[in-house]
Amino acid sequence: MTSITIYDGANTIGGTKIFIEEKGKGIFLDFGMNFKKYGQYFQEFLKDRPSRGIYDLIQLDLIPKLNIYRKSLITPDLDISSFPTLNIEAVLLSHAHMDHYGNIGLLNTEIPIIASPTAFALVKGMIDSSRLSPQLEVAFFCKKTKGLSDKTIKAIRGAYQTRKLISTQKYSDTFESFMTTNLKNAPNKDGTLKMLENSGLSDLTTNPTQFEIKPFSVDHSIFGATGYLLSSDITIAYTGDFRLHGKNANKSKKFINNAKDASVLIIEGTRATREDVEESEEEVYENCLRVIDEAKGIVVADFSARNFERLEIFKKIATKVGKNIVIPAKQAYLLKSLEQVDKIDRTSDILIYSEYKSSKQYWEENFLKNKLLYIDPTDISKSPDKYILCFSLYEIKHLLDIKPQNGTYIYSSSEAFQEESEFDFIRLNNWLKHFDFNVNGFEILNENGRLKPDITKGFHASGHASKSDLLWAIETIDPEYIIPVHTENPKWFRESFDNVILLKQGEKIKL
Ligand SMILES: [Zn+2]
Repeated sequence: MTSITIYDGANTIGGTKIFIEEKGKGIFLDFGMNFKKYGQYFQEFLKDRPSRGIYDLIQLDLIPKLNIYRKSLITPDLDISSFPTLNIEAVLLSHAHMDHYGNIGLLNTEIPIIASPTAFALVKGMIDSSRLSPQLEVAFFCKKTKGLSDKTIKAIRGAYQTRKLISTQKYSDTFESFMTTNLKNAPNKDGTLKMLENSGLSDLTTNPTQFEIKPFSVDHSIFGATGYLLSSDITIAYTGDFRLHGKNANKSKKFINNAKDASVLIIEGTRATREDVEESEEEVYENCLRVIDEAKGIVVADFSARNFERLEIFKKIATKVGKNIVIPAKQAYLLKSLEQVDKIDRTSDILIYSEYKSSKQYWEENFLKNKLLYIDPTDISKSPDKYILCFSLYEIKHLLDIKPQNGTYIYSSSEAFQEESEFDFIRLNNWLKHFDFNVNGFEILNENGRLKPDITKGFHASGHASKSDLLWAIETIDPEYIIPVHTENPKWFRESFDNVILLKQGEKIKL
């Protein structure tokens, strides 16, 4: 008998944590961070306290009350021993977005992680180039010790160890060496790179679970997204996040067509709340090209740093109109991380923005050195109309060093936003007004004295399947049971099909 428990993400977009169990052991499908729940208590300048391990997250119910977490993140005033223990054979990660992997770092480090090499390279690239935090400790983790107060936890500097990583595909030596190299600390005295303590990297020929696992690449707004077929007594299909209107839609279709044997379909429903719109990456290309072709002054393109497909669209536009793409160093590092998987050089025709920094961290100092061309803000300001800057709100402050007289801005990112991010748009708009920019992709409306952002369609194509594509996927697979996740509108599935199981948070169904 197989049971399915949705520990989180049953009726929110993200935070997905699905446990599939058989004979007293099982696997998690994703173990993401639930931004909606986190947002009830935290924001950018009010975060949980890493020095208290998982204490804050358990107290506030932001992670499931289970006895499955890293011992080193449990403070002496937190007792999780009375919570249910799960025998976890592995975590299957669908893709490298935080709402799918952002809580894996809190899990017991003995648990193997299964993901595509691309997803692994991206989570490695993220931890290398970010401030250390338990939430990011997926590719490798930092050992902890007691802090000044015995109720606190402190990272042991440089004491890094990889998790047990299982790649869904065969991988190269280049990839293996990237995954096991310490790029956070400076090299040894003789110039050789430091290595991470290695818990073992392998591929699915060493499947540690009782399930047969068939991974399929799917199309999403990040490279390396995977849908899974799991078979034992029954076959379960899990879509992760996917879409059918992107350049790689055929991959998603192949997964759907191969999932016809599945009796259970666990499917994302991000857009079950929204009306379908005509959209494609080609349309985004055409609209952005039209704006950039007519643009005066510098161009700022605002899209998710991990949406590499969108970056390629702006690269294509840049070539067409004779401009240069400039990206932040961290984004270049992620491109270099991707290169470790497929040896495709994605940085030869771009420039890296040389941010004024008082010091550089090792990953940037050495890994990007001489391999790419940096450009200084003063050089950009000499001929601003030659450049397309890939900046988001968080980088917009660097315009102060470029001092543009005017320019063109394009918002080419998610159409859905939380209420609190309305203030971000108002702030962003103030920056753009300050530099006298022509703004495309959103506008600020005044509704009875209240300022509200309104997204202009056509500059972004969603990473998620539309309602009609969800219907097609479900009808094609035609499973016995449909379990919607990653949606704020699970009821839409029930209205559309009669074999839908709506599970509450933590509720278990036996099949
Ligand atoms: Zn996603």
